[in-house]
Amino acid sequence: MRLSELSLKGRRVFLRADLNVPLSDGAIADDTRIRASIPTLDYLRARGARVLLASHLGRPKGEHNPTFSLAPIAAHMAIPLATDCIGPDVEAAIERLTDGDVLLLENLRFHGGETENDPEFAAALSKSVDVYVNDAFGASHRAHASIVGVPARVTEVAMGLLLERELEMLRRLRDTPESPYICILGGAKVSDKLQVIESLMDRADRMIIGGAMAYTFLLARGEGIGRSLAEPELVDTAKRILDAGKEIMLPIDHVCSTDLSGNAPAVTSETIAEDQIALDIGPRSVKQIIDALADARTVFWNGPLGLFETPPFDRGTCGVAAAVAECAGFTVVGGGDSLAAVHAAGVANQISHLSTGGGASLELLEGKALPGVVALEEHA
Ligand code: AMP
Repeated sequence: MRLSELSLKGRRVFLRADLNVPLSDGAIADDTRIRASIPTLDYLRARGARVLLASHLGRPKGEHNPTFSLAPIAAHMAIPLATDCIGPDVEAAIERLTDGDVLLLENLRFHGGETENDPEFAAALSKSVDVYVNDAFGASHRAHASIVGVPARVTEVAMGLLLERELEMLRRLRDTPESPYICILGGAKVSDKLQVIESLMDRADRMIIGGAMAYTFLLARGEGIGRSLAEPELVDTAKRILDAGKEIMLPIDHVCSTDLSGNAPAVTSETIAEDQIALDIGPRSVKQIIDALADARTVFWNGPLGLFETPPFDRGTCGVAAAVAECAGFTVVGGGDSLAAVHAAGVANQISHLSTGGGASLELLEGKALPGVVALEEHA
């Protein structure tokens, strides 16, 4: 069902959102995910629904841990927070809701049953629920209780506005990308992104690889990488990818240092000395990317090109954020780090689509079905 087909007034709606925001010393470091969840919440409240808003936060591993409480999120959104997500106290609080009210349930992952998709936990979550709405794109690649178990137990289900838009944009990217289509992948590990590299390589006209991932590829090419982060056990895989006859662009210069602190001197060079760690792509590599994007009709970017949390190693990532923003084609950026860079560079409004889901967007682009989406689309 579509959201617009639901009767909402006076009904208890379980809204699964992705409010898994980055925290720094207990404060919200970036509220993009909260802001992205507001339109569906407002839509439901304006139509008189009684909303049970649910999310996970971090990895509390099935235990009630105040470090992972949704309290900062409740305060930020100025909404009440329940003491838990299931149980008699929560049910009593739900009973007290009136039309248009919202109650934020406490972290779903305080219960191991969430990630295990435990039937009893899913049944407890569904207990007072009339309608289920999934707007948690960033969690929809996980077959967790609130993503697949609850919709299986509720008769009326729908996608939220954010999930609908994410699917529309990412399916356009997956199924009908206009050429030239360029993918930029960064981040720490080749092992995490191997499948996505292989699948996007077949779809894109050119693949640009940066971040620590690039050093496994440079190692495979026989270049010296000093003490840079790499996965030597994946060198053979990297060689196979490089030899597949696709256009793969690697950094041609680097910003290096002797440690990760940002305090040791940073040197820019085309080769990496033995005692150095390459921590960012250099200015010539950024220029190479700007040139490659000049006539692109489609661009997808996921993952930072360097240790962007620590200046001056953020320049490559910010330069790429600006280059993607300049591109006149259809541009999509996914993943928390890349989104943070786009915001830091002040170019968020120049990107066609900012995807709130890192892992979920990669799985969708790889051609995998997302369990959360399947649960809604196959709902009887
Ligand atoms: P991922 O979670 O795989 O997307 O990786 C993101 C992390 O990779 C970020 O914390 C970056 O700081 C880190 N990163 C990117 N490039 C480098 C690099 N050259 N050396 C060390 N860490 C890096």
